Amino acid sequence: MMSRVPIFPTCCIFAVLFVISGLAVAAEKVKYKLIFPEHENHYVQVEASFGDCGPQQQVFMPVWTPGSYLIREYARHVDSVEASDAKGTKLAIKKVNKNRWQVDNSEKQSSFTVRYRIYCNELSVRTNFVDSQFALLNGAAVFLTRNESSEQEHVVAIELPSQWKQAVTALERRVELGANIFVAKDFDELVDSPIVAGNPNLHPFTVGGIEHFLVNLGDASLWDGDKAASDVAKIVAEHQKMWGQSPYKRYLFLNVIAESGGGLEHDNSTVLLTSRWSFRSPDRYNSWLGLVSHEFFHTWNVRRLRPKVLANYDYEVENYFEELWVAEGVTSYYDDLALARSGFNSTRKHLEDLSKRIRSLQNKNGRLKQSLALSSHDAWIKFYRPDENSSNTSISYYNKGSVVAFLLDIEIRRATENKKSLDDVMRALYEKYALKEGYSNADVLAEVNQITGKDLSEWFDRAIYSTEELDYQAAFDWLGLKFVVPSSGEEATKAAANGPIWTGISTKTEDGKTLVSSIVESGPGFDAGINVDDEIIAVNDYRVSSSLSELLDQFKGDKEVELLIARRGALSKVKLKMETRASSIWRVELVKKPTVEQKKNLATWLHQPEKKK
Ligand SMILES: [Zn+2]
Repeated sequence: MMSRVPIFPTCCIFAVLFVISGLAVAAEKVKYKLIFPEHENHYVQVEASFGDCGPQQQVFMPVWTPGSYLIREYARHVDSVEASDAKGTKLAIKKVNKNRWQVDNSEKQSSFTVRYRIYCNELSVRTNFVDSQFALLNGAAVFLTRNESSEQEHVVAIELPSQWKQAVTALERRVELGANIFVAKDFDELVDSPIVAGNPNLHPFTVGGIEHFLVNLGDASLWDGDKAASDVAKIVAEHQKMWGQSPYKRYLFLNVIAESGGGLEHDNSTVLLTSRWSFRSPDRYNSWLGLVSHEFFHTWNVRRLRPKVLANYDYEVENYFEELWVAEGVTSYYDDLALARSGFNSTRKHLEDLSKRIRSLQNKNGRLKQSLALSSHDAWIKFYRPDENSSNTSISYYNKGSVVAFLLDIEIRRATENKKSLDDVMRALYEKYALKEGYSNADVLAEVNQITGKDLSEWFDRAIYSTEELDYQAAFDWLGLKFVVPSSGEEATKAAANGPIWTGISTKTEDGKTLVSSIVESGPGFDAGINVDDEIIAVNDYRVSSSLSELLDQFKGDKEVELLIARRGALSKVKLKMETRASSIWRVELVKKPTVEQKKNLATWLHQPEKKK
């Protein structure tokens, strides 16, 4: 089904803009006009008008956007900045730091306008993209503002290129003013409301009495939008049920189909980037549903229920906090769980996904170096800036956070004899802290203790603040799960002996060369002194052609092999120990003969109806 949002011809826009100026919208409001005279060359032009300005008024652009914890320096894409007063007379404007400008308004006109151009050629959920077909604009990367205006209304008028029919955003549309005029109640809402424009297809659906839209933008020709919307509706219903309340009046899934990936959460919308082929491949479509599930869960967890530090954003510096394992890890846990609970994923598929997460954690040396709390704190310099050594020194708060959330959920269920779960903890946290001052890790622990009636501080400290190994046994025993191959013991040794050669090095092929791309600390390659960027030319004097691992397999059983390598143009030889490792060590499956209790616990966890005999 196509759009139900009224579409106005773009020729009305000029009149509407005039009306806005003529109305002299209360002076304190910030008004923006977005135009696209050079959209085919990736540019948007912005006019930002401010009232009640001081004599040396500073304006700034955020350096990061909530949900993506990296200083992105959005101002680096801004050029041609100029300022003028209400009469159109030019005012001096100068850069005072990387993201701030100062307007010389010493004549004390009450208002001025800053005009600038932004180069938009980074197709991601936290940056801007504009081309001949569509625009994806993120508030933090578009709108200059000033500290004095943060609580005021921000009005955005968008003048679309003639080939585009519509702009879509979660911002309130002022229909009385025109099709593409929107209002944010403050700067936070403006930043939190990405805008897409072009020729989108809108697929509306209602869940819990609330209107939602799947907005397909880009090449939607291979997508059945109505089918996708009906699947999204099931996920929405699952999350609404879990949280027990829906804190929004209207929600947009802005699905940009443009051969890219990723998602970013907002209060009343999300931006999803995907491929035109995602609808055709069951696996890719399942991943897209997982992305939908993840971003939509954030509507509660991290958008409204926030860590204390994020209760009020500082848009110009890093905001440090230790709770990303809740914001992202718990969300990652529920994105999968909701797919299993709503029938998209079988128990087997759910356990495969759980296995991947556990395997990814257990195979990273970084788990022994960085705690979950530290991983969160250092997201700005580590998680968002990975390099070839990252897996040796850091972990992902998404990944370990989701594994810890799983273990915590089962710990709560065990402690309360299945009467309570992490669902109850999240709902209780939401009641206490959402849209208020926010929570800390200590508040989460207090809630867990309150709900279980036990003191889980030792468990919590180990999982969140230490680098000790996680203990899976209790949770697995309770659910009737096991690792296919145990991590130690006779069976593990036997499986390792039959496993593939393990070098601890990863390679990539460039111009026909086999180059080392990363090395596992203390693995055979690391111990042999192999470096990242070394070219591996030969094994035991046989040239590496297509696959290094295939060639190494020919020498399985040997204690070591000799590698010929090239490093910065010089040849040398190194000895590599031949080790084997079980490949399925961290794979989770159901035990063969689960007890009645285990069956019941598994069914309760996945919300499966109990099977009658
Ligand atoms: Zn997330």
